[in-house]
Amino acid sequence: TQARIGVTGLAVMGANLARNLARHGHVVAVHNRSQYRTKALVEEFGHEGEFVPCETPQELVAALERPRRILVMVKAGAPTDAVIEEFAPLLEPGDMLVDGGNAHFLDTRRREAAMRERGIHFVGAGVSGGEEGALLGPSIMPGGSAESYAALGPLLEDIAAKVGGVPCCTHIGPDGAGHFVKMVHNGIEYADMQLIAEAYDLLRQGLDLSPAELADVFAEWNRGELSSYLIEITAEVLRQVDASTGKPFVDVVADRAEQKGTGRWTVQIALDLGVPVSGIAEAVFARATSGAVELRQAARGLPGPTPRTAGPAREAQAGTDFVEDVRQALYASKIVAYAQGFDQIRAGSAEYGWNVDPGALATIWRGGCIIRAVFLDRIREAYEAARTPATLLVAPYFTDALAVAQDAWRRVVARAVELGIPAPGFSSALAYYDALRAERLPAALIQGQRDFFGAHTYRRIDREGVFHVFWSGDRMEIEG
Ligand code: NDP
Repeated sequence: TQARIGVTGLAVMGANLARNLARHGHVVAVHNRSQYRTKALVEEFGHEGEFVPCETPQELVAALERPRRILVMVKAGAPTDAVIEEFAPLLEPGDMLVDGGNAHFLDTRRREAAMRERGIHFVGAGVSGGEEGALLGPSIMPGGSAESYAALGPLLEDIAAKVGGVPCCTHIGPDGAGHFVKMVHNGIEYADMQLIAEAYDLLRQGLDLSPAELADVFAEWNRGELSSYLIEITAEVLRQVDASTGKPFVDVVADRAEQKGTGRWTVQIALDLGVPVSGIAEAVFARATSGAVELRQAARGLPGPTPRTAGPAREAQAGTDFVEDVRQALYASKIVAYAQGFDQIRAGSAEYGWNVDPGALATIWRGGCIIRAVFLDRIREAYEAARTPATLLVAPYFTDALAVAQDAWRRVVARAVELGIPAPGFSSALAYYDALRAERLPAALIQGQRDFFGAHTYRRIDREGVFHVFWSGDRMEIEG
């Protein structure tokens, strides 16, 4: 039998995707640069389905039915280029190379264009869900040609997570679209994690709640509108006790958050597109701040608020309200972070001509991926409505949710400031909300300043045209 699909790169992600395909009854040809991985996979998991172990790229190509489908799961960056160059000469027009690694979408655009010239379909596919997702059902975001999706889609949808029978995989758009939305997915993930961390910090410091008590709070929140994978695992992490010290696990972990780069890419690209993704940016910067060991060491003695305001007594009535206030602030800030992420996707889609369907995207993020949440159903509904909202904040469901939450949100941000607890995610989300809804912004003054020092000109509210004031002379307005 010819294999339906080949997988090259059998580290944890590739091996698990290959097993997932085999478990779904597809014959999978498997290959890895170092042969031990191929052998180990077939020895350990060969009973799960039908694998065709291949020692060389030539063998892998020969094992596949045509048009060939090859899933590349190697280290992102130069290794991906090396593997593409190894396989491309062995392929025929119409064959498909699928890069499921975490590639930068600009690399994917370059690779897709190069392969297209050779008649090969290059599909940059975002895969989310980590190791477990790869094995049990990830969220898959394939880009590339519609033609390639017709041949690949059924296979990918088969192994993707399902929510209510609907697969968490859909064709995102041409060339780099899949890797672009995967990048923004990760950016949103950064923002969501930061907001949850701020909620934890505020409740821990503000109310003096223990990690175990906070685990209960998050578990409770997971039963409501915040229900999501990230809230669920937060409860698990907070409940964990360190075996060697008997202390809460969260208290023995070094407080320096690391990053692999997709959050940073999201912000870099958002800056280029001019889309304010302040929630994601704050999350990336908060990780950087936590890791700035020397700065933190040097600044440790700086004074906090005077007089040091104590948190409300935990048994006081105010205490129970504060938990609910923080929940509301978290929910409202999360709405802002997702709204900003979806804005970036729409801007990227417009810039690159991808025609990404935000509703379809919300649909495939409901399962498999790290940001899976009940809430994504509301986003899907908002984008499936007759009139697409300019921002999720004005979709009726979210407008109502923000109206309910906003007083609590303001109290929480004010309280954070009073207590000297950093809450950049909560406060910047609120600032964004207030900026968008403002009748007038002080940008008018900035335009005045720019005109003063640089003759950069300004527009008026009452007349068309471009104007400049002769600041260094008679200060009369000149129409330019
Ligand atoms: P790694 O990113 O650790 O990559 C290891 C694999 O790449 C091995 O199979 C290795 O082969 C191969 N490789 C490295 N360099 C070369 C080269 N020059 N030529 C041929 N093969 C090479 O593996 P993961 O499974 O963690 O991830 C695979 C991809 O999936 C990455 O792009 C990653 O970013 C992405 N991803 C990972 C997720 C995760 O949770 N880990 C989630 C979603 C995506 P060898 O065995 O011979 O060294």
